[in-house]
Amino acid sequence: MKPPLTPLQPWIAQKIGCKPETLSRAALDAYQLQKLQETLDRCRERSPFYRRRLAGFPARLHSFADWESLPFTTAEELQERASAFVCVSQSEVERVVTLDTSGTTGPAKRLFFTAADQELTRDFFHQGMSTFTEAGDRVLILLPCERPGSVGDLLDQALGRLGARGIRHGPVAGVAETLKVILQEEVTVVVGVPVQVLGLVRSAAARQFPRPHLKSVLLTTDHVPDAIVRAVEAAWRCTVFNHYGMTEMGLGGGVECAAREGYHLREADLYVEVVDPQTGEPVADGQPGEIVFTTLTRQAMPLIRYRTGDMSRFLPGACSCGAILRRLEKVRFRRTGRFALPDGYFLTIADLDEALFGLDGVLDFAATLSAGGLQLAVRAERQEVGEAVRRKVSSLPAISAADLDVAVSVQAEAVNPAGKRRMTYV
Ligand SMILES: [Zn+2]
Repeated sequence: MKPPLTPLQPWIAQKIGCKPETLSRAALDAYQLQKLQETLDRCRERSPFYRRRLAGFPARLHSFADWESLPFTTAEELQERASAFVCVSQSEVERVVTLDTSGTTGPAKRLFFTAADQELTRDFFHQGMSTFTEAGDRVLILLPCERPGSVGDLLDQALGRLGARGIRHGPVAGVAETLKVILQEEVTVVVGVPVQVLGLVRSAAARQFPRPHLKSVLLTTDHVPDAIVRAVEAAWRCTVFNHYGMTEMGLGGGVECAAREGYHLREADLYVEVVDPQTGEPVADGQPGEIVFTTLTRQAMPLIRYRTGDMSRFLPGACSCGAILRRLEKVRFRRTGRFALPDGYFLTIADLDEALFGLDGVLDFAATLSAGGLQLAVRAERQEVGEAVRRKVSSLPAISAADLDVAVSVQAEAVNPAGKRRMTYV
């Protein structure tokens, strides 16, 4: 059976002034090129950073090839010179987001948004959530909700537009409390971070909690391992959807449709490219590379060719839902999220994700590579899982080919960790 068309397509058609049934790729391309020009003009006129950066580059765009001659923006530039990106007066800034840059030096990364910028995010959340949420649903939000304009706050407001009820919970602090809320509030949809939701699922099984009657789960904020999707779907008999986004994108970037064949992109607000991470040249459709995006409708802090560090590829051909929107394959790791092993082999965090989260009882891990081999610090429900982890990881092709020793330590705990899994060289 053909999956229903993603709700993003009629929404984007309306935003760019087309009838939903006549939206064509050519119309969308023409719209995007025009918006790129407007972004370029706005940045040159109002942003001290871009005025200097773009001096000497073409001011008029005749094609996407002209666009590709423009320089990239990096996360480091944003971190060092945030206020030089801002294109509006202080009084127009509605919200400033300071991103946690622990582990790096220099100032924290700050992102500025006007009320109109926030409305664009709310609107995207409304449309994206309608893929798997309907009026009457009770949606547990396991994301930060407290501050006005935070991701959970905007999501809750978007759900209200759908006629669904958002339950503003915030990140999981205690598994038992959150499980209780799911049952008491008769939650039908959960939105959360992959390892936190996995922790809930596995703890619920260990504590013999009754199975909640969920329809769908949206996993967001971090890369989503297939092994976590499978574990959540099997335990809770629901459908898991993936969202891709980052604060720099205005929180939302793209979401899967019912076909779940890659994220449909938010193409009225973002122009996405995939480039070779070494040369910076665009790669052919279908080829892997780094995701680069440009904001098309952002007021406070437009970004031009921003390098995300995330690796993916455009999926060639049309989605089986019939949408003409471009699709990105699920993002599995960051440019830096891999270890170079001896003899030219690579180990990505995605390899470890699939190996570890596929094992029952694993909740989270941190990996360290040193001259002595690979050390894995695993959080799990019980100690015994350590040997299974060691065997599974040792049998990964890159590890056995590079003949690397694997050592595993297990911290047994039922409480779900809040931290993201890590890879570190020492
Ligand atoms: Zn689709």
